Amino acid sequence: MCWSVSTPTVQCTTRRVICPKKKPAATDFVLYDTTGVHELAVDFCGCKGAPERRQQCMRVCWWPATVKEPNTCATFALIKLFQILNCLGKLSAYDFLRGLEMVTNHDGLDRPPVSARHGS
Ligand SMILES: [Zn+2]
Repeated sequence: MCWSVSTPTVQCTTRRVICPKKKPAATDFVLYDTTGVHELAVDFCGCKGAPERRQQCMRVCWWPATVKEPNTCATFALIKLFQILNCLGKLSAYDFLRGLEMVTNHDGLDRPPVSARHGS
């Protein structure tokens, strides 16, 4: 059992081990980060006794949007940034997300990706 979450592009494993029984998440996995909104291919650990997917996400500092079968997560760094800006700067969640959209795609023509299961 390796208890890892890994992606082909970003090594997100907590133990630096690629799971031999990895199981891919939905193809539309979306990660909200301070660097923008990203679509990722994510593999979860499929070993016997592995933690649930939400727990695997939290081990790599991703907060899942849903408890069951998460396909959208926000990084802990993004949540902390929002907390600070909201508490000190009174920035609303709407304005924060609009800013994050601009970080993702500055022309504002294309909306950032949203998991097909939870958004439109
Ligand atoms: Zn594994």
